[in-house]
Amino acid sequence: MHPFTLERPRDLPAALAFRPQAGRNDAPVEYIAGGTDMVQLLQENIRRPDRLVSLAGLLDNRIEVGPQGLRLGAAATMAEVAAHPDVVEQFPVISEALLESASPQVRNQATMGGNVLQRTRCPYFRDVGYEACNKRAPGSGCAAIGGENRWHAVLGTSDDCIAAHPSDLAVALVALDAAVEIEGADGQRTVPLGDFHRLPEATPHIETVLEPGEVIAAITVPANPAARRSHYLKVRDRASFEFAVVSAAVVLEMDGAQIRQARIALGGVGTKPWRVPRVEAALTAASLDPVELRSAAALAAEGAQGRGHNDFKIELMRRAIVRAVEIAGART
Ligand SMILES: Cc1cc2nc3c(=O)[nH]c(=O)nc-3n(C[C@H](O)[C@H](O)[C@H](O)COP(=O)(O)OP(=O)(O)OC[C@H]3O[C@@H](n4cnc5c(N)ncnc54)[C@H](O)[C@@H]3O)c2cc1C
Ligand code: SF4
Repeated sequence: MHPFTLERPRDLPAALAFRPQAGRNDAPVEYIAGGTDMVQLLQENIRRPDRLVSLAGLLDNRIEVGPQGLRLGAAATMAEVAAHPDVVEQFPVISEALLESASPQVRNQATMGGNVLQRTRCPYFRDVGYEACNKRAPGSGCAAIGGENRWHAVLGTSDDCIAAHPSDLAVALVALDAAVEIEGADGQRTVPLGDFHRLPEATPHIETVLEPGEVIAAITVPANPAARRSHYLKVRDRASFEFAVVSAAVVLEMDGAQIRQARIALGGVGTKPWRVPRVEAALTAASLDPVELRSAAALAAEGAQGRGHNDFKIELMRRAIVRAVEIAGART
């Protein structure tokens, strides 16, 4: 492990003054929150910051539900949010996405801010034995293209990186039109979560729109009665403690037996949480008939590019959408 200094600032302005940069391998200073991802990255020599700035005790950890919707303080843990009665009742897709993530021990420690900023599970990124990884070492190439790529993305990829985004929670939040409250030395700003993660394009090492010295302060989800009829479907290699091969977050507004509006985001298939507006549009006024659902779900594959081992994800994501819509639609 690269030696580093752990800074424990007394308040948030002091933490921001260190100008850490979350989620970039070339940043000399980074934040640490729950540490469940960061400690692994340090141990494996994937991250080598000179300074780590602890956010412990500096950020809001409240979970609030009001007329405007849901507000999750960045320091709230995955376990606290998953078990919150109002989240379970009004936003089941969030609770389900969290309970299908990691393990009870990790969920007790990991935070909302850290979850949406966790790094990819691409095995070449996670193993410094492989030299070629543009995300870890800009300009070094991509070992996954032409290598073993069963776990990789089929949507939003570039010639420089095909890594899949790992967070289940972020997929559910994107389907719910959530936003990220960001705090920095220059003040606060709010960014829709759908615009928060960047496509890899030619700079896969820059993963989000966060600037140096900015933190995630909270995540907000607008009030939406339809969110009670929502579901997170996760397809994975093992029944627990495993990342998504493919996942689908679905929020359905029904008008009798007809879909009035569907919101759908996919995980495991995109380089960022992937919203599918063409599928959503095709589902407007559709019934829950499997033939109609399959024809709408087929549109999710538009622009998808398999790289060999991950070709199966294109059909699997269509099936995951159909199954998730059926389950959400059966809810009252
Ligand atoms: C064995 C295992 C299995 C897992 N399985 C899953 C799974 O199935 N699904 C899933 O979604 N996740 C899974 N995870 C990942 C887990 O959800 C993340 O490790 C966790 O959510 C990260 O939160 P943290 O608070 O520990 O972040 P940390 O590890 O402390 O930080 C992660 C990143 O976020 C930055 N950061 C943290 N908070 C902030 C903030 N407020 N503002 C700015 N930057 C910040 C840090 O600098 C760092 O870059 C798994 C993890 C493990 C260890
Ligand atoms: S897919 Fe991205 S993270 Fe994986 S090896 Fe290629 S550049 Fe690195």
